[in-house]
Amino acid sequence: MCACIFCGIGEKKIPAKILYENNQVIAFHDLNPVAPVHFLVIPKNHIASVKDINENNSHIVAKLFEVIAELAKKEKLEAGFRVTTNSGKLAGQTVDHLHFHVLGKRTFNWPPG
Ligand code: 5GP
Ligand code: ZN
Repeated sequence: MCACIFCGIGEKKIPAKILYENNQVIAFHDLNPVAPVHFLVIPKNHIASVKDINENNSHIVAKLFEVIAELAKKEKLEAGFRVTTNSGKLAGQTVDHLHFHVLGKRTFNWPPG
């Protein structure tokens, strides 16, 4: 089995509280939420981070955002929500599989800390 934990979730080898999935994308609740609503949206295929997006795989990013928009409506985040991706150690990336955090139901500061 691939050592990547999010590949494991996409393959249903590692359990997660799944909100949505199709053949390319899976969305699930974050294990350690930092907001009342905090879920992750990932491609099922392994892409390590934003730095690995290219002309061959960028179509999946559009699919990820289609799911984000749909789930934001479903989770009633119309008052505002934040979509974040951390890329690299300095930014705080801890899982090396592209993921977008979707955070809602609280106030967020700008600029971020
Ligand atoms: P990063 O730190 O890479 O931006 O975000 C990784 C996120 O994945 C963290 O918010 C962390 O709580 C979450 N996470 C790490 N391992 C697991 C897991 O096994 N299951 C779930 N659902 N979330 C995880
Ligand atoms: Zn992976």
